[in-house]
Amino acid sequence: MKCRRCKAPAVIEVRRHNAAYCKGCFLHVFRGQVERAIRQWRMLDTDDRVLVAVSGGKDSLALWDVLLDLGYRADGLYLGLGIGEYSGRSAEVTRGFARDRDARLVEVDLSAEYGFDIPTAGRRGSRSTCAVCGLSKRYVFNKAALDGGYDVVVTGHNLDDEAATLLGNTLRWQTESIARQSPVLPSRDGLVKKVKPLHRLSELETAAYAFLRGIDYVVEECPLVAGNTQLRYKDAMNAIESTSPGTKAQFFLGYLDRGMPLFTTGREVELVACERCGQSTTGRFCAFCRAQAQILGRQLATGDGPNDVAPSDDRQVADELSDEVLPAEIYATRGADAGP
Ligand code: SF4
Ligand code: ZN
Repeated sequence: MKCRRCKAPAVIEVRRHNAAYCKGCFLHVFRGQVERAIRQWRMLDTDDRVLVAVSGGKDSLALWDVLLDLGYRADGLYLGLGIGEYSGRSAEVTRGFARDRDARLVEVDLSAEYGFDIPTAGRRGSRSTCAVCGLSKRYVFNKAALDGGYDVVVTGHNLDDEAATLLGNTLRWQTESIARQSPVLPSRDGLVKKVKPLHRLSELETAAYAFLRGIDYVVEECPLVAGNTQLRYKDAMNAIESTSPGTKAQFFLGYLDRGMPLFTTGREVELVACERCGQSTTGRFCAFCRAQAQILGRQLATGDGPNDVAPSDDRQVADELSDEVLPAEIYATRGADAGP
């Protein structure tokens, strides 16, 4: 098979494009897709201070690699989740990547900063491990970006992640979640801008990019992944894609083009500062502070006011958590890494 661009022997076939590429041309096409996403959605300015959420998986490291290559001022952010060997290895490869490129890596350890790790959070609460993990990531990414004076948080969600999330939201007709599934969430009221420049690229393509660039990344799955409902939707999408290549892209990119405007209401909920930590939320305490109080068995409020929330109010906490979870957490791995 020959490369579509230069006719040299091809090293990768991209079935959905009905094309094959040599190494150099594939890397060129991959970067071009990232640049196209950034341009089309006005994700980044050249003078932005960019914080890339890196997990040690292929997607986030490939993304950081491309952004550095394109000349962006991109620092990494690694969140230690405390998931045994898996987290140990993830931290190791992420630090190695930063060292090799002389890039700056910001590290936050969940247990040291907030008093719990993800396995403990999963055991102690009524919610799923992945739900509290997603909530924690979202909270820490935003806080680290605010504290560090960054303009934008970048995550490695790829086309497979986004298509699976859209499928899950559509099967349940979660119209508000569907409306929010944009590759760009602008900054507002204490929330830092968030962007997903890999949303045009499949998991296979990010794996190929990481491999061809010689990036050392964590291939193993997170050992807690069994509870991640996202994976069932990914499997379903993969089954369709295997007989109809291009379906994922048509589904998600078609949604961005023609579906999203139908779901956008223009209504925005009012945000206020969490009384405990100061981060933006819709109630008195943010979902993260509530979850943390529940996990640590601490009292969050006195219970003597009409809006007070006791940590034992499990159902309310669980409802908020399910609303707050990242669509496809950027550390989960499947085959390689699924962007959580
Ligand atoms: Fe967190 Fe992903 Fe592991 Fe779930 S699978 S616990 S979201 S890292
Ligand atoms: Zn809070």
